[in-house]
Parts: sequence; C-alpha cells; structure tokens
Amino acid sequence: MKRPDNDGTEPLMVECHLHGRQVSAVVCGHMLQQPPPRLGVVENSNDPNDLQAWCHRCEDMFQHEAGLTDTFDAFNDMSIVCVVCYAQIKASHLIALN
Ligand SMILES: [Zn+2]
Ligand SMILES: [Zn+2]
Repeated sequence: MKRPDNDGTEPLMVECHLHGRQVSAVVCGHMLQQPPPRLGVVENSNDPNDLQAWCHRCEDMFQHEAGLTDTFDAFNDMSIVCVVCYAQIKASHLIALN
C-alpha cells in the first residue's frame, strides 16, 4: 500500500474539510462508511508521516490474493484522509480482543 508519489522524505499533506491542512494518511474505503460498521483495523504503517490502515475484510483479501494485486486494489478502494480523521476512524473500527 505504498504510494508511488511518496519517497519517504516529505510527508504528503492534505486539505481536510474538518481539520485544515494536515499530514495525509491512508485507509481503505470500507472504513469511511457511516455509521461505522466496526470492521476491525489492521495498521500497516505507524510512521506518523505515512499512516496506513485497512479493515479486517481487506486483510482477508490481502491474504487470499497473496499481495497487492489489481483485485485487491479494487476491493481496498484506498482513500486519503488527514491524520486527525485517521485517528478517529481507527478508534471507531477497533474491535476489542476480549
Ligand atoms: Zn477494507
Ligand atoms: Zn480530518
């Protein structure tokens, strides 16, 4: 789920309609559904300048496809959000382990 336009030196910025100019983060399209269906979260990168997460359904698909295939990309429907939104989205989808 690496963005080709990010060489890892400069964080990508995004203009969030809620939070203004922020560092960008990536989530799968499923996690943007409202109200949140609580899909679980798999965090693929916790670099504060390159946060990336997808839901448990995406993780299942990723394992099934054995990598970042076109099928996976289509299913994943990756979306850019700001880091503040990312934290809120993540919190809303985390499933307690017990
Ligand atoms: Zn997903
Ligand atoms: Zn935001």
